[in-house]
Amino acid sequence: MTTTRTRTIHIAQPCMGDEEWQATRECFQTGWLTQGPKVAALEKAFAQRHEAKHGIATSNCTTGLHLILAAMGIGPGDEVIVPSFTWIATANAVLYCGATPVLADIDPLTFNIDPAAAAKKITPRTKAIIAVHLFGLATDIDALREVAGEIPLVEDAACGAGAAYKGKPLGTFGAAASFSFHPRKSITMGEGGMITTNDDALAEKINKMRNHGAEISEEQRHHGPAPYLLPEFNILGYNYRMTDLQGAVGLVQMGKLDRFIDERNQRADYYRRELAELSWLRCPTAPEGCRHAYQSFVTWVDPTTAPLPRNEIMARLKDAGIATRPGTHAVHMLGLYRTRFGYKPEDCSNARDADQYSMAIPLHNKMTADDYAYVVDTIKTIAGH
Ligand SMILES: *Cc1c(COP(=O)(O)O)cnc(C)c1O
Repeated sequence: MTTTRTRTIHIAQPCMGDEEWQATRECFQTGWLTQGPKVAALEKAFAQRHEAKHGIATSNCTTGLHLILAAMGIGPGDEVIVPSFTWIATANAVLYCGATPVLADIDPLTFNIDPAAAAKKITPRTKAIIAVHLFGLATDIDALREVAGEIPLVEDAACGAGAAYKGKPLGTFGAAASFSFHPRKSITMGEGGMITTNDDALAEKINKMRNHGAEISEEQRHHGPAPYLLPEFNILGYNYRMTDLQGAVGLVQMGKLDRFIDERNQRADYYRRELAELSWLRCPTAPEGCRHAYQSFVTWVDPTTAPLPRNEIMARLKDAGIATRPGTHAVHMLGLYRTRFGYKPEDCSNARDADQYSMAIPLHNKMTADDYAYVVDTIKTIAGH
């Protein structure tokens, strides 16, 4: 290609307006900065939208996963099944509990855990299966439940805000779910997470554990009859709280969630339509009844028919100002997991291939129609069309 481009299209970009900025003013004025009324309001709005009884905000999705597993009593000697193609945090959360993450291969068509592969990993020590809804596509819950039997599911819904499985929002298909508000996700406040659950006892325990194990929160204490007395501490907890500054921004972002996801779906349709003629590039789709959140638009570059190797395509797109990334990484091939558990690449061959051949192309709410057309044209030029 001979074009020199001044255009820069990021893989993701937060979509913030003046409303988010203004929303933080109240926190500065009242001086209530840590978990307080804004966080409580965000929890309520998020839980309502995801049809969950409880919403519990956390510092991020990873600490949320840790809290869920810890509150479920998962510890040394226990095993938790985790898909091998996911962000490392999913598996790390299991290690934080002193338990063993057991990596299972994925279905290359959905990038989500292959229920049959998960079934083969079940042992008497299996205490949970983490159902990751990767890139915002619901995992095959019914099939996973069937192989899981009595073993509880925990949803890693990091990418799943606003997504649905068979018409029902993600977040209540297992014991609990953890969502992310990292800037790479559809709504953000810099960092942040949200746990949803319908289990009252689990919610109560998680609520305490995110605040050092205190029997009552700071807000309850400050507004209670004896703010001068410290609360009781009966269980091991952590400081995994969200700040009220984040809560204030998050509330504004929540109000935009469905518009963002609708737009992402329209843009995904555009990509699918325009890129359909490239037989070597498989675009993601969602099964009937599943609302994909398109946290990322992750394609598959077929190594046998593509005009160039994936990394070369990514390099050329970068030269044209277009950011791409592998969908995510194969956890069993990362140094920590490889050396600690002795995994070989072929142990999860679909995850290995996804690591090598997946390619996320830009899709986010700051891109214009012209940006999308430019991405399509550039990919077609590279392919020699
Ligand atoms: C982003 C992501 C996480 C981590 O979320 P944080 O909020 O950054 O902790 C975990 N799992 C998956 C699948 C993710 O995409």
